[in-house]
Amino acid sequence: MVDLSRPLLDWYEQNKRDLPWRRDVTPYRVWVSEIMLQQTRIEAARGYYERFMRALPTVEDLADAEEDTVLKLWEGLGYYSRARNLHKCARVIARERGGEFPRTVAELRALPGIGAYTAGAVASLAFNAPEAAVDGNVCRVLARVEACSETVGEPMRARYRRELTEILPEGKSGEFNSALMELGETVCTPGIPDCGRCPVAALCMARAEGDPDRYPVLPEKKTRRIEERRVLLMICADRVALRRRPERGLLSGLWELPNDTVPEPPEHGEPCGEAVHRFSHVEWRMRGYVLRVAGETEGFRWVTPEERRALAIPAAFSFYLKKLEEMGL
Ligand code: SF4
Repeated sequence: MVDLSRPLLDWYEQNKRDLPWRRDVTPYRVWVSEIMLQQTRIEAARGYYERFMRALPTVEDLADAEEDTVLKLWEGLGYYSRARNLHKCARVIARERGGEFPRTVAELRALPGIGAYTAGAVASLAFNAPEAAVDGNVCRVLARVEACSETVGEPMRARYRRELTEILPEGKSGEFNSALMELGETVCTPGIPDCGRCPVAALCMARAEGDPDRYPVLPEKKTRRIEERRVLLMICADRVALRRRPERGLLSGLWELPNDTVPEPPEHGEPCGEAVHRFSHVEWRMRGYVLRVAGETEGFRWVTPEERRALAIPAAFSFYLKKLEEMGL
């Protein structure tokens, strides 16, 4: 691989953004930010990150927190299994490792929820270990620099991890990895890149070919399965019925409004609108019904508006939660 380090590091020095996780760098802060950034864009992550750090400033605080607290801090970011793994992993680090993060990719990867990318990012950004961190941004930049027509996937990422390790500048692996990611986020962006501002333009084969947005070659998108669901807003006086989802599968273990795939409207149900929510592999097309009931039937948790707001309820239900708010519930 062509050595990009010189122009890239000079450019980064001049252009790096002031991001909250780049201040007071600790393994904990790097790790939480990297997991959050897998969920959302940098600008959206800032607020979540600052709120999370205010509530749980150390790995011990996260380890000692209730799961519902962690999920509430994660609410809106999606993929709650990542928040659960974050919590599990904090417990391993705080309780089995005396609060110390491992420094090598191999040991980091043995922890819950830490894959090759996160391990490389924590090892290099927090400890300056000579490890690569290859995410979607890095793949895009490198595929363009070498005009690579291979489809993006694990074999490509593994090759880049290997090849980057060979060109990491000594003692500056963290900075180099951050610079490469920053370039992908701000200059060599998806769609048409801003090659005029690019520090590695002179080395870039895609630019020389004149059509850089041909790269990277992305795998074909899988089509989503459509699921028709009815959502029940069961109301008893000032309380609403919630239930927990099963411990496995989509949105596992989270609180939700009762819902099912029965096609008919429920008896005495008052329609309250339709909503669509897209997950990565499935699309829910929902029809909501308000059901006023005389007693709190078993099998549900009946919550006041205040209790409900303290729980993490997936964004899939936000349309109906808003309806409840409008009803003063
Ligand atoms: S020259 Fe353009 S395509 Fe090549 S790395 Fe820079 S921004 Fe990306």
